[in-house]
Amino acid sequence: MKHTKTTEIPAKTIEKVSHYTCDICGAKSDDSGNWSREHYEERTTDVSCSIGANYPSGGYSTVFSYDICCDCFNNKLVPWFESQKIKPRIEENDW
Ligand SMILES: [Zn+2]
Repeated sequence: MKHTKTTEIPAKTIEKVSHYTCDICGAKSDDSGNWSREHYEERTTDVSCSIGANYPSGGYSTVFSYDICCDCFNNKLVPWFESQKIKPRIEENDW
């Protein structure tokens, strides 16, 4: 016969991302980092640098990142890249 007893399991509190804010203008994204407010449109950015080492037994890294909205990316960062004569690598994807 299987006997059971009631055991109280305390609720767990976790920290989840609710949104991101642009480090330049303060615009708000959704919880996934999509800066668009239009249905089905996706506007994301990734401005980061990872520095570390990868050994056979393990490794480490430190990631430096900025949360920059697409408007600030296009209106603030792109002009600076262009002033440095840097062209972007452009990839197009369909799914
Ligand atoms: Zn911004």
